[in-house]
Amino acid sequence: MFRRQVGPTREQILEALRDVHDPELHKSIVELDMVREIAVRDGVVTVEALLTISGCPLRETIVQSIRDRIGGLPGVREVDVRLGVMSQDQRQGLIQKLRGGEMHPARQSAFLTAESPTRVVAVASGKGGVGKSTVTVNLAMALAADGRRVGIIDADVYGFSIPRMLGISGRPTAIDQMLIPLERDGIRVMSIGFLVPDESEAIVWRGPMLHKALVTFITEVHWGDDLEYLFMDLPPGTGDISLSIAQTLPQASMLIVTTPQPAAASVAQRAGKMAEKVNMEVIGVIENMSGFSPSPGAPPIDLFGRGGGLRLAEQLGVPLLGEIPIDIAVREGSDSGEPVVKSHPDSPSARALREAARRLAKRLPVGART
Ligand code: ADP
Repeated sequence: MFRRQVGPTREQILEALRDVHDPELHKSIVELDMVREIAVRDGVVTVEALLTISGCPLRETIVQSIRDRIGGLPGVREVDVRLGVMSQDQRQGLIQKLRGGEMHPARQSAFLTAESPTRVVAVASGKGGVGKSTVTVNLAMALAADGRRVGIIDADVYGFSIPRMLGISGRPTAIDQMLIPLERDGIRVMSIGFLVPDESEAIVWRGPMLHKALVTFITEVHWGDDLEYLFMDLPPGTGDISLSIAQTLPQASMLIVTTPQPAAASVAQRAGKMAEKVNMEVIGVIENMSGFSPSPGAPPIDLFGRGGGLRLAEQLGVPLLGEIPIDIAVREGSDSGEPVVKSHPDSPSARALREAARRLAKRLPVGART
């Protein structure tokens, strides 16, 4: 008996699956060659998709998206999704593609060229404890809330605190030697804290190791070629780190965080001078812990003095992008994994941080390199 083919064609199915993205790799599964067998029989569509690794944590998400897309095509009664795992060779092909092989014939690796569209912002401070990491996560979150695609490299290897501040834990997925950043609210994050066996363990980092870790985080992590801002939370102090960054990422800019205290600002100035020495542009200064209002509307008490941020900005000839008051909600937000721009968006500190993020974005517009 002659049976008429019921259901969509292979092309229609592939077209529908173009919209399904691998949730970690941020690319279409069709483009990534993850869709293998497709069979249609009496309105029953069978699709075989290959995952990068067998323990892919987001397999259910992928299966569901495939089901939804194909299920929406005319003539489909049933969708049968079968998952397989890529072979070593197939994974290498995928990594090659992601690294800029076929997908970006003009580019070697996403950040390693001066033409890269990603704005890299290295966040530095003269000394520890001034709120560099706190400012970093809040700026990142503010930009992400404005629709920007943002990543953070927690390069503060001595005191990695970004995972806690964003409430992220776990291990990044590794596809062979390529690491996939963990995500929170769309912010892609990589931290040494994800890789050490015990977070409380002290790590003794010497300059060359730090340089190597940083290069690994830049080159071996799949940040995605759509990333607009990449923040790097640097270890405090001047160190050779800015030299490492300047060598690895010629287009990175430096943002300096200081408290209003003259002593803190003068140490921070050294970080700024170091950046200048290696031709890294200092994009601005953010003064943190600027004043403390004991109650809403009360005149602020200058616990850490006044004016250090502005003075530093003037000395370096760069704008002061914000003055962030001392606020218990900021500290609580850091401890609970809910940054203040999210937990208390209307507080004066969150407003100041959001404003600083917008000024920063204005200084570093995406897609318009100067
Ligand atoms: P750094 O990265 O410079 O070492 P952190 O971001 O870890 O500094 O901040 C040090 C401590 O100060 C953290 O406990 C943080 O929650 C707190 N903190 C930072 N900024 C503020 C602020 N504006 N108001 C209140 N607490 C703050």
